[in-house]
Amino acid sequence: GEWVYRFGGGKAEGGAADVERLGGKGAHLAEMASLGLPVPPGLTIVCDACTHYFNSGRSLPEGLKQEVLDGITAMEELTGRVYGDTARPLLLSVRSGARASMPGMMDTVLNLGLNDETVRTLAVDSEDPRFAWDSYRRFIQMYGCVVMGLDHEVFEEILEDEKAKAGHEYDTDLCAAEWQEVVQLYKHVIEEELGEIFPQDPHLQLWKAIGAVFASWMNPRAATFRMLHRIPEEWGTAVSVQAMVFGNLGSSSATGVAFTRNPSTGENALYGEFLVNAQGEDVVAGIRTPQSITEEGRLASGSEKPSMEKLMPQVFAEFRAICTRLEAHYRDMQDVEFTIERGKLWMLQTRSGKRTTKAGMKIAVDMVEEGLITKEQAVCRIEPPSLDQLLHPTIDPRVERHVLGSGLPASPGAATGEIVFTAEEAVHAEEEGRKVILVRIETSPEDIHGMNAAEAILTTRGGMTSHAAVVARGMGIPCVVGAGSMRVDLRNETLIGVGGVTLHRGEVITIDGSSGQVLRGAVPMIQPALSGDFAKLMAWADETRRMAVRTNADTPQDARAARDFGAEGIGLCRTEHMFFEGERIHAMREMILAEDEKGRRAALAKLLPYQRSDFTELFSIMHGLPVTIRLLDPPLHEFLPKTEAEIEDVARAMNMPPAFLARRIDALHEFNPMLGLRGCRLAISYPEIAEMQARAIFEAAVAAAKRTGEAVELEILVPLVSLRAELDYVKGVIDRVAAEVGAENGSPIAYLAGTMIELPRAALRAHVIAETAEFFSFGTNDLTQTTFGISRDDAAAFIPTYQRKGIIEHDPFISLDFDGVGELIQIAAERGRRSRSDLKLGICGEHGGDPDSIRFCENVGLDYVSCSPFRVPIARLAAAQAAI
Ligand code: ADP
Ligand code: MG
Ligand code: MG
Repeated sequence: GEWVYRFGGGKAEGGAADVERLGGKGAHLAEMASLGLPVPPGLTIVCDACTHYFNSGRSLPEGLKQEVLDGITAMEELTGRVYGDTARPLLLSVRSGARASMPGMMDTVLNLGLNDETVRTLAVDSEDPRFAWDSYRRFIQMYGCVVMGLDHEVFEEILEDEKAKAGHEYDTDLCAAEWQEVVQLYKHVIEEELGEIFPQDPHLQLWKAIGAVFASWMNPRAATFRMLHRIPEEWGTAVSVQAMVFGNLGSSSATGVAFTRNPSTGENALYGEFLVNAQGEDVVAGIRTPQSITEEGRLASGSEKPSMEKLMPQVFAEFRAICTRLEAHYRDMQDVEFTIERGKLWMLQTRSGKRTTKAGMKIAVDMVEEGLITKEQAVCRIEPPSLDQLLHPTIDPRVERHVLGSGLPASPGAATGEIVFTAEEAVHAEEEGRKVILVRIETSPEDIHGMNAAEAILTTRGGMTSHAAVVARGMGIPCVVGAGSMRVDLRNETLIGVGGVTLHRGEVITIDGSSGQVLRGAVPMIQPALSGDFAKLMAWADETRRMAVRTNADTPQDARAARDFGAEGIGLCRTEHMFFEGERIHAMREMILAEDEKGRRAALAKLLPYQRSDFTELFSIMHGLPVTIRLLDPPLHEFLPKTEAEIEDVARAMNMPPAFLARRIDALHEFNPMLGLRGCRLAISYPEIAEMQARAIFEAAVAAAKRTGEAVELEILVPLVSLRAELDYVKGVIDRVAAEVGAENGSPIAYLAGTMIELPRAALRAHVIAETAEFFSFGTNDLTQTTFGISRDDAAAFIPTYQRKGIIEHDPFISLDFDGVGELIQIAAERGRRSRSDLKLGICGEHGGDPDSIRFCENVGLDYVSCSPFRVPIARLAAAQAAI
């Protein structure tokens, strides 16, 4: 029909391919029916009818009712029962089911068709009147809530009173007469609260229930869930109307839910729970403690209650066979609902089961080995960002937790260390080899060094996008932010947890960045296993992908971590960090404040050995892999002191009057530093800086080659170019130094010189720039900044507003703006390759670790992406998926 698809009796209209029309539940009920599995007959009303319902003042579309009635006639033929008949009543369930799984967000009504008459027939037929009255009161309760809009409590209170009066502990203790009494009270309370009589006409019940289930698409719960999961409102929900089967018909009846494999470990073993003599929702509602389905599961849980395997061996065998059949059919782990009515098994639902990343990995790998799926399919089964969960140590789930407080889980993983309250202390502790947790009210950019030195970060203020959260995620260190239940008392150097527990500086705590908890003391951890299933799946990803994956790394520590995660080189080494540490900053300031070139050269000579040794170390770690080094990029005043006190300190150290230093700093002031004297403009204004850096790089390359026996693949990156002449000039300096160092060592030095594409003009003039440049690296942070004219550092003030008002969907600094910035990349790639066919192309902005952006890079044909070390596995997987 137009609105209704039927299923049952070994056949069905539609199937798994019709999820868009029938919703997940309806489509898979149809699929199971076609497979010949035991499914109670039913029909599914398409999702479009829901949209129609809302667009036409909440009324059911013309023609729908007749199609439903025809469908019910078919169900009557299959069951030998009649809807609304008093002699052989057919009872129905009305179930919600959208395209995307929205567990528990919408409503379902069971036992439709019961009324004061049919309940008596049921009581006689079932030989147990208790069952009939229990079913009826369940129906009144569900209908009262879902259709008539009453509160659950209204009914719960009555039931609790009744139990108390009769001295019963459990619902199951009530006898038929007592349930009958509850039914009377339920009907009474409906009349009292609504001035309406509980409807006795089964057809009225049906239309009202269908309308109410459609309406549940718009309930606040469902709306919030849709927003969080980006499910469009237009989709609507389908509604399945299905013949009831009863798990509450005595001791040979039961109901349950199961996963075809273990959803938390991935182990290939049936896993689930059931309840004897119960109806569907009881298992989830926790009214009684459910029993394990398998004997193995029962033993593992230490439960005394017999398993379904023991209790109902024949049904169990059939059920297990169906699960195996479903897995083989869907080629994925399934989450199923079933009911056993007097020893007869009925399947009520199947869908792909939710699982942990670890389980997902194991299941994907096992299924390849079982021949169920291909390696490519396995690679596509894992969401790249979810790998993050696997790359960090986690707290052993078996240990007891002494929770001091909790906040937002800002960056995953767990770490233990002594409490410190300042960045300096963290740095100092690291130098002494002590492990610390940096505890702050909030962090600021000045804390970066301390954050890097800490094992984990805890703040009592701030959200998931606060400075601490963003930086910690970037560094891959665990972080909990906004722990509002805890307090930092800086004066007394204490951290106060919930209940007033006071911890002093130096006391040990553990941060669980995955749950947001802060724990007392050291806690046993489980180290991430980068071997086993993870390694296998990543190897398949590596076989599949076309693009290389490199890392952004400035320090040996980053470079080593990235190698462990499978980075195939460094795509961006920012050299400015190398000028900040310890002694170097003095030489750097001397250089900046020098009166003339001679003075600058003298200071630069002091910096050369530092840079050379840093590069030698990096090159040695990367062992012959490509390394891209960017020449100094930031404006020079970033290296100078800012506050008056700092200026005084530095002036004293440099032996100059503070006023003189302040004047020099003033002279370097820029109105718009982001667009000022930086990037290649520095190298052109002070070529001796580029000269020193080039020398350090080339000498280090020679030294590292001697040390490791392998020559690094050198790429020197000139930042912020918009004119070819800029690159020509700087490349001239680099080439000259290369020739000198080559001559000194008696062998020429191989390297590529290229440019960052981070200004719109460079993208547009790529064909001209590529006549000089041997590679391009898309610096998408700056390119986004300069294309939009939005300062990245000031964007937080209005981007969230833009998102809220629907002006932009994504933050362009997180997810690449395909339309604008993307087009510039495309143009640059095309024009660049037109004038140099072997032009190497890569991306080094934040976007290099974002799966959607990686897909874009694949489509544009870039040679590699580069991202922070902890995102390397994510990028490897995303690049593979993009290539499939
Ligand atoms: P949800 O999407 O919230 O899981 P369902 O439509 O699956 O809602 O229904 C909830 C429970 O009701 C199911 O787990 C099942 O046990 C029970 N149920 C639904 N339809 C029937 C039916 N025709 N016969 C017996 N039980 C049913
Ligand atoms: Mg369900
Ligand atoms: Mg830049």
